[in-house]
Amino acid sequence: TPANAKWKRVMLKISGEALSGNTSKDGQNFGLDPRVVERIAGEIVAASMSGVEIAVVVGGGNFFRGASHEGAHLDRASADYMGMLATVMNAISLQGAIEAKGVQTRVLSALSIKEVAEPYIRRRAMRHLEKGRVVIFGAGTGNPFFTTDTGAALRAAEINAQVVLKATKVDGVFCSDPKQNVNAKKYERLSYETVQRLGLGVMDQTAITMCRENDLPIVVFDMTKGGNIHKAIRGQAGVGTCIS
Ligand code: UDP
Repeated sequence: TPANAKWKRVMLKISGEALSGNTSKDGQNFGLDPRVVERIAGEIVAASMSGVEIAVVVGGGNFFRGASHEGAHLDRASADYMGMLATVMNAISLQGAIEAKGVQTRVLSALSIKEVAEPYIRRRAMRHLEKGRVVIFGAGTGNPFFTTDTGAALRAAEINAQVVLKATKVDGVFCSDPKQNVNAKKYERLSYETVQRLGLGVMDQTAITMCRENDLPIVVFDMTKGGNIHKAIRGQAGVGTCIS
């Protein structure tokens, strides 16, 4: 493990919406905000240069979510494939921003789209990580009816990551909604069992189950606060809530 870091290899999950910034007044966070992508890239680069091996799964909700487009003319599976394609766009954007700051990356896609990304090959992903490249996984699991959270849990288990870092807009899991209640208390630690029993909306149930069955701790943290992505990757105490 690199000096003062908690983990050698981490999985960072970033939603698509996170890449869009908070620019829209109607709350529909669409598209990509280059300043936000650059800020996220900068924190990943700093952590990567400190020696932590970093895999990233990006979502696609800033462009397309399968479930909300399903309808008479588009079945769920097709809509989900569109959502997966959206994640590849985000992956390419993040790749450019990270490489501009001097760290090598590879985008590995679960759908074959070889002109823009390598196909996902597990052993190749691990080799890239060993060489210090940031590996960005596109297209989620490659299967409809899943989410990129589940993709993050799945890939984390496959590549032997030690933790799933779930970047959100709140600093962890609270006993009630911190936006409604200023006295809401943040949990430092929670068990998978509690998260599942209370139906806490940390990640979808499939993703939580994958993590639980594979003993993968999840750290839920606030990525909107400057420096927090870097801190989360380095495993600093006090950042977010740890579910294990
Ligand atoms: N998706 C899918 N299978 C996967 C991952 C994603 O079908 O393994 C589709 C699904 O339609 C989803 C969309 O891609 O709505 C975008 O992913 P997600 O909603 O997880 O992105 P996020 O909310 O993290 O931005």
